[in-house]
Amino acid sequence: MTASGAPRIVVLAGGVGGSKFVVGVREAARRRWPDAAGGTRAEITVIANTGDDLWLSGLRLQPDVDSMIYALAGVNDTERGWGRTGESERVAAELHGWGAGWPWFTLGDLDLGAHIARTGWLREGASVTEVIARLASRWPLGVRLLPMTDAEVDTHVTTAQGRMHFQEWWTRHRASLPAQSFDWPGIEHSTPAPGVLAAMAEADAILFAPSNPVVSVGPILAVPGIAAAVRAASGTVVGVSPIIAGAPVRGMADACLAAVGIPAMADAVGRHYGARATGGLLDTWLIGEEDAALAAVLEAEGLRTPVRPLWMRDLDTSARLAADALDIALPA
Ligand code: GDP
Ligand code: CA
Repeated sequence: MTASGAPRIVVLAGGVGGSKFVVGVREAARRRWPDAAGGTRAEITVIANTGDDLWLSGLRLQPDVDSMIYALAGVNDTERGWGRTGESERVAAELHGWGAGWPWFTLGDLDLGAHIARTGWLREGASVTEVIARLASRWPLGVRLLPMTDAEVDTHVTTAQGRMHFQEWWTRHRASLPAQSFDWPGIEHSTPAPGVLAAMAEADAILFAPSNPVVSVGPILAVPGIAAAVRAASGTVVGVSPIIAGAPVRGMADACLAAVGIPAMADAVGRHYGARATGGLLDTWLIGEEDAALAAVLEAEGLRTPVRPLWMRDLDTSARLAADALDIALPA
């Protein structure tokens, strides 16, 4: 707990799904632990997936980190589902004209501004943690945003047609090439970014956002030391299912799950994370009302599995879901 008696909250999160949830956590914390300035006395630390990162046309892109910053700042394009609201694509058209970059990977002009700023700071010697702190300081986000690691561990996918960067598989092929495996070159030698392990050790609650279990939460947990820190945490660990009624809410998480042999079912993902009581990672696994019939078996296996509405349609439904997770982790 902080000096004011409000909790320290850590969220492990990917991009679009993760940021919807984190916006909800911030709002739920404002409602439950308000401060005098309209914010919250709770401390929220987001540990972001950097497995989606890539080099393109000499620029370093961090799609999940930027989705998180844009959503918390309220400048994200919710209709398109990525990038900044109101941005043009003139620079991307020029890059295509030059034959630079990937023709199937379009970047908006405002988004490119972030990539240029980030790449410049990295070239000047700043760490990924420092760069994210600088990007995040532009707006009052209300959370502390940390990368999972400062190392470059970009996700790669192996398919029958060869091994490729995750973004090529996801964006160019729309995850339609059956994936055989995912890998993060060098991740076994990476270390958690500064502050990550301390935040987890001090946390009163650790939340797994309903992010892609394989390519968003998966890489975070694959950084040596992070899964062990979840297991050892004194705070309560609550996960939220990204799978409702046998399908991802949006995106292609089912294609990722299939590659690692996990059925696209809320109970299977809960089992994949596992109960801390039996050597896994979670104390509680929130599943949707559509999946209520799956709860009893998970409970019998030792994983507390409450049933809640899991749809995040707007700020209020995101905040309700986050409040449910926080109420379970931190009962009044
Ligand atoms: P990405 O990095 O942009 O792909 O986003 P994340 O990995 O953070 O989140 C993607 C996951 O969010 C998908 O697997 C979706 O099923 C899940 N998701 C998206 N919207 C919702 C929602 O409203 N409720 C729940 N429970 N999951 C959601
Ligand atoms: Ca992502």
